Amino acid sequence: MPYRRPWDMVRYVTIRSVEDRAVERWPIGVFASIDAGLGVQLAVAHELGVPTIHLHTPEKSSRTPENANRFLQQLKDFGLTITVVFAGFEGESYADIPTVAKTVGLVPPETRAERKQELKEIADFAKILGVDAVGLHIGFIPHDRNDPLYRDVLAAAQEACDHCAKQGQRIHLETGQESADTLLQFLQDVGRDNLFINFDPANMILYGSGDPIEALKKVGRYVRSVHCKDAKWVAQPGKEWGTEVPFGTGDVNAELFLRTLAELGYDGALTIEREIPQEPERQKAEIGQAIRVIQEIKQKIFG
Ligand code: MG
Repeated sequence: MPYRRPWDMVRYVTIRSVEDRAVERWPIGVFASIDAGLGVQLAVAHELGVPTIHLHTPEKSSRTPENANRFLQQLKDFGLTITVVFAGFEGESYADIPTVAKTVGLVPPETRAERKQELKEIADFAKILGVDAVGLHIGFIPHDRNDPLYRDVLAAAQEACDHCAKQGQRIHLETGQESADTLLQFLQDVGRDNLFINFDPANMILYGSGDPIEALKKVGRYVRSVHCKDAKWVAQPGKEWGTEVPFGTGDVNAELFLRTLAELGYDGALTIEREIPQEPERQKAEIGQAIRVIQEIKQKIFG
C-alpha cells in the first residue's frame, strides 16, 4: 500500500465525508403503489435505483397482516424503505378544484365518520409495515375558524392524531389546498405534537394557494416529508388547475426549493411524485430525469 502523507489523509477523509453526506442526506424516493394506483410499481422503483418510497395505501381488501408480511419481503428484496404511507379514500376525485372541495379528505361531512375509521385502519396497517408517518390530503379546510365545519375537521384531525400518537406515529398533512397561513393556523388549533406537513410545492401552484417557496419558509418547521413535483401557473390560479410538469421544468424553481429545504435543516427524503400511471414508460423516464435533476442540485448544495 502506498505511503500516505498526513495531508493526503486529510484530503481523503474530506472527500469521503462529502460523498457519504451526499449519499445519506436526503435519500431520493418515488411515490409507489402496491396494487393498482397512481404511483409506480415497486419493481419500477427498484429499477430506478431509489432507496425510499412513499406508499399509496393499498385497497382495503389488501390491508391484511399476511399481505403486510408479503409486502415487507418484497421491499426487502428491492432494497426499499417506506418513509410515509399515504391514505386515500374511495369517492375522492381530483377532477377539478370544486370537485376536490366536495370529495377529498375528512372535510365532506357525509363520509367523515367512515373515513376517520378507515384512516385509523390505514395507520394500523402502516404500523405493521414499520412506518411511523401517515400522510393525507385532509381536504379544503374552511378559512373561517368560526365555521362549524372548521371545528368538525379540527376534531377529526385531533382524533386521528391521538390514535397515531398511541402507536408512535405522526400525521403529515399534504399542502396545497390552503394557504400557508391557513395551514399554520389549523396546525396550531389542532394542538397535537405529532401533526406535521408533507410539503408539495407543485400543489401550491396547481391549487393557486400561494408562492411555494414563501409558503415553505412559513411552514418549514413543520415539514417532515416532501414531494418533488413541479407545475406551471395558469392565468386564473385557484379557479382552474395549474399544469403539472416534470420536476425541474416548471415554476417551482427546483434548485431554490432544495436550497430552502437545506436552510431549514430539512433531513428527510426527497420523494418524486409524477402521477401519470396511464403512461408508464413516460412516467419512468420523467422520474429518471427528476432523479438526475435532484442529484445535480444536491451536488451543488453539498459539494
Ligand atoms: Mg403530493
